This record gives sequence, structure tokens and C-alpha cells, in this order.
Amino acid sequence: MLPATVALLDRLVAFDTVSSRSNLGLIRWIGDYLAERGVAVEIVPAPDGQPKANLWATIGPQKDGGIVLSGHTDVVPVEGQPWSSDPFKLLAANDRLYGRGTSDMKGFIALCLALVPEMLAQPLMTPLHFAFSFDEEIGCLGAPHLLKAIGAKLPRPRLAIIGEPTGMKLGVRHKGVYSFRTEITGRDGHSSQPERGLNAISLAAELIGEITRLYDGLRRDGPFDHAFDPPHSSLNIGVIEGGTAVNIIARHCHFLWDFRAVPGGHPDQILLPLADFAARRLAAIRRDFADAAIVTTPRVSAPPLLEEHDGAAEALLRLLTGANETVSLPFATEAGQFQEAGMSAIVCGPGHIAQAHQPDEYIDLDQLAAGEALLRRLIAWAREN
Ligand SMILES: [Zn+2]
Repeated sequence: MLPATVALLDRLVAFDTVSSRSNLGLIRWIGDYLAERGVAVEIVPAPDGQPKANLWATIGPQKDGGIVLSGHTDVVPVEGQPWSSDPFKLLAANDRLYGRGTSDMKGFIALCLALVPEMLAQPLMTPLHFAFSFDEEIGCLGAPHLLKAIGAKLPRPRLAIIGEPTGMKLGVRHKGVYSFRTEITGRDGHSSQPERGLNAISLAAELIGEITRLYDGLRRDGPFDHAFDPPHSSLNIGVIEGGTAVNIIARHCHFLWDFRAVPGGHPDQILLPLADFAARRLAAIRRDFADAAIVTTPRVSAPPLLEEHDGAAEALLRLLTGANETVSLPFATEAGQFQEAGMSAIVCGPGHIAQAHQPDEYIDLDQLAAGEALLRRLIAWAREN
């Protein structure tokens, strides 16, 4: 394995890029590393002024039809986890490298960067692109801003390899994750005269009852995909907040819920009938309370990765790895977003998801070596094709 891979991973892990913090230090560092080697870099900042950015880089010709190597730069928090060493300091022991993000997924980014000199050594016929995103861990929020630039000011690649930790297996399907905030506005008043007000908590309870009823329908009628456990789309109401005091009619209530879609499932299966239900209830309520409102807003939208059946990404990785098996993944990735943007997509990267998000997260050296071997075969392919 290249010593550069370990040195680069050491550097990347040292940036504390927990999703709640800025990733700009890391992005600038990678930008400088690439620029020093003559690689064209495009920084795509978060549009809302947050101190975060995606990075796009191209090695080879600036043309359509390239291959994207995609990774997220953010990591999950370490608070409350019993780490035996500093999570932001790479530690080598037992043929493993320990540190936050080693598996998920700075190891993959380190590999991409370590192989840049080999990518540059001979002209590539097919361009290789790096797409390094922010805020993946909190709902794949960063990549869509980069994907908007692709095909507009950036060339349109043919396929994307998302280097999330699959133990180098070919991940061709996963569920999608969506989340929503439903906000209810009622009217306050003294609790002794509840009919004079409109209790937002009670209305929220009606909506949650309806959501639960709709979810029961999904569990009964599908769609089903038995590669997943559970084999249907799933739904959870995770947070509810409302009211101010026990003797005040609650004016506000909101709840947060997520929907994990099997391929073929979509949150519209809940959202559309829920909107009908809310419209019917509001039509009745607004005769007395004109400003009553029920508003559902989307927060996270990471679509499922749909199996492509002989898709370009799978065909290329089968060729490069010799693998004849594919897997369904128990976690969501940005792959569905790349696919929705019109690219063939697959998830394949070093490390194991079982080690991700854990205290003492690590990556096995032999996983990094396998990742390096795959990228070398990709480079050789990109020179000839
Ligand atoms: Zn990840």
C-alpha cells in the first residue's frame, strides 16, 4: 500500500468535520493539494452562507462521459462515545488505522488523493472526477448543490462510484431516507374554555393518528422488497413539541418524522393522503378559526438507490473487481441522488459499515489496499477507454 494513503488519511482525520461544524478547512486543504499538482478544482459553496462547501475536481479531459469518485467529508459526532484514543488523531495498531471517519469515509478520500500522481502520470481518455460533499451524515444535504452544477457548468459524467464502506462489495440498492416537519397552528386561550381556542396538540394527535393509519396500510399492502428488513417502507415519528403551559390551550405544535422508502416506495404515499386529510379538517376548522394552519415541509430527501440491471456502473465494477455478486445495503447514501441526476451509480468502498459511527472507528489496512488496487485498475481502464 502507498505510504501516501496513510499520511493523507492522518491529515484528513485531523480536521474535525463533524456535520455541525465547518468543513472549509478540509476542503481548502484538499483544494491546495490538488492545485499544487495542477488539477482543476471547483469549490461549490453551500448556497445559504453556511461555512461549508463541496469540492469537484477533474483529472483528464474536460468532457462528458467521465467517472465520478464520490465521498462525503463530514463525520458523525464523538460526544458520549467511549473512545480509547483521540478520535481526531490517526492511530495505527493491529493492522488497522483508528480515528473518526477512517471507514466512513475519509479512507476512501485519502485513497483518491494518494492516487492523483498515478492518474496524472499518463493521459486519461476518460476523465476521473472527485465529488467531495458536505452534510451527508445529516441527510445528504450537500451533494444536491453539486449535482445542480453538473451538466450546467460542469461536464456530465456517465457514472458515479460512491466510496461508502461496503467492504469493497458492490452495493446496488438501498432504501431512501426522507424527513419532514409538520407544523400546526391553532389558537390559544384559557384551558377552562377549550372550545374557544383550537388546540394544536390535539390536532397534531389527529394527524399522527392518520399517519399511523396510512402507515399500517403500507405495511399491509406494500410495495415490498424482501432484500430489506423490514421489507416495506418504514415510518417513524421521532420528535414532538407543543404548548406552553398546562392551563393554556396550545397554539403551536410540531412533529418531525422520517420515511425510509424501499425501491418503488415514495413518501407521497403518505404525504398526498395526509394533505387531503389536513385539507378536509382545515376546511371545517377555518369556519371558526381562520388562521388555523397545518404545514408539512420536507427536510431531508435522499432517494433510494434503484437496482439498474446491467447498469454502466455495475458493469464497470464487475469488470474491474471480478466480483459476480451484488449486495443490498442497510444504509442510505448519496448514490440515489446521483442516479436521480441521470447517472448510473453504485456504492463500493473500503471499510465496513459496522465500524462506522462507532467509538474506536477503524479501517483495516487490507481494505485500504483493496481500495487502492481497484482505483489502479480504474486508472488503467480510463487510459484505454
Ligand atoms: Zn458515510
